[in-house]
Amino acid sequence: MKVNRLFDQHQVISFELFPPRRKTPDEDFDRIAGTMDAISALGPDFVSVTFGAGGSRRQNGTLELASLIKKRYGIESVAHLPAAQLDAQAVDTLLGEFKAAGVENILALRGDIPKNGRLSDDFPHASDLIRHIHAVGDFNVIGACYPECHPESPDLATDIHFLKQKVDAGCSQLISQLFFDNECFYEFVAQCREAGITVPIEAGIMPVLNQHQIERMATMSGVTLPKKFTSMMARYADNPVAMRDAGIAYAIDQIVDLLVHGVDGIHIYTMDNPTVASRIVQATKTLVRA
Ligand code: FAD
Repeated sequence: MKVNRLFDQHQVISFELFPPRRKTPDEDFDRIAGTMDAISALGPDFVSVTFGAGGSRRQNGTLELASLIKKRYGIESVAHLPAAQLDAQAVDTLLGEFKAAGVENILALRGDIPKNGRLSDDFPHASDLIRHIHAVGDFNVIGACYPECHPESPDLATDIHFLKQKVDAGCSQLISQLFFDNECFYEFVAQCREAGITVPIEAGIMPVLNQHQIERMATMSGVTLPKKFTSMMARYADNPVAMRDAGIAYAIDQIVDLLVHGVDGIHIYTMDNPTVASRIVQATKTLVRA
C-alpha cells in the first residue's frame, strides 16, 4: 500500500529503523525484533528503513529489513534511497528489487556529499531522483525536509524554495529532520504552506539517550537546543540511566504537544532501541488515535 493515502484518515505515526550492521548481524536482528515487537503494539502506519549512502544493496540490508517488516509484521515499509553516489542504472536495479519485494514507498534522498565531493551526474539533487523514480516505476515517493534549514542552505527561505521544487517533482509527503523545539516545526510548516507546499509534513522526533548523542547534536548546525532540554541533560550527565529516561520523557512531551497541535504525522527515530520504542508506545498508545 502507498502510505500517503493514510494522511486523509488520521494523524500518521511512523518509526525509523537501521538495518543490521554487518559485524554482528545476529545481535542486531535480535535488537530489531525487540524494537519491532514493541512498535507493533501501537499499530504504526509504516516503518522506514535507512540506507547507508554509497553502499551497495547487498552491503546494506535495507531491502531485507523492509521486506521482513511487511511479511512478518504486516506493517507497511518505506525504503530510504540516497542516490548521491549512484547512477541511474544502479538506482533502477534497486527499484526493481524493492518492487519485487513488495516495497511500494521510497524516501528519495540525495544523501550526504561524499568525502571526495563528487555527486552523481544523474542525481545531484533529491528532486532529480524523485523525477526519475516516477519515470521508471509506480512508487509513492517521499522527501526529507529540514525545519531549521538544511546545513548547506544559506537560509530557510532558499531551502523552502528548493523543497517546493522537490514536491513539484512528485513527493506526496515529507518527513522532517529531528528537532527539539516544537515552535520551530510549527513555524516551518506555516512557511511551507505560504510557499504553496500542500503535502503532509511529518514531524521527526528523536529521543536523546546519551551524552555522545548530545555532543553530536551540538555540532549539527542549526538544531536549536532549548534551555529546558540542555538543563535536563546537564542535570543527568553523570547518570546514564537517568539521562536515557529524561531523553525519552522529553520526546514523549514533544509528541503529546505535536498531537494536540494537529500535525499531519509523527516519525519517531528509534535507533533500533527496544526500550525507547516500548516506552514511547506505552506512553502514547491511548493518545495517537483518540
Ligand atoms: P536535497 O533535497 O537535494 O537538498 C540538499 C541541499 O541542496 C539543500 O540545501 C537544498 O536546499 C539544496 N538543493 C536542493 N535542490 C537544489 C537545486 N535544484 N539547486 C540547488 N540547491 C538545491 N542519509 C542517508 O545517507 N541515508 C538515509 O537513510 C537517510 N535518511 C534520512 C531520513 C530523513 C527523514 C532525513 C531528514 C535525512 C536522511 N538522510 C539520510 C540524510 C540526507 O541524505 C542528508 O540530509 C542530505 O545532506 C540531504 O538529502 P536531501 O534528500 O534532503 O537533499
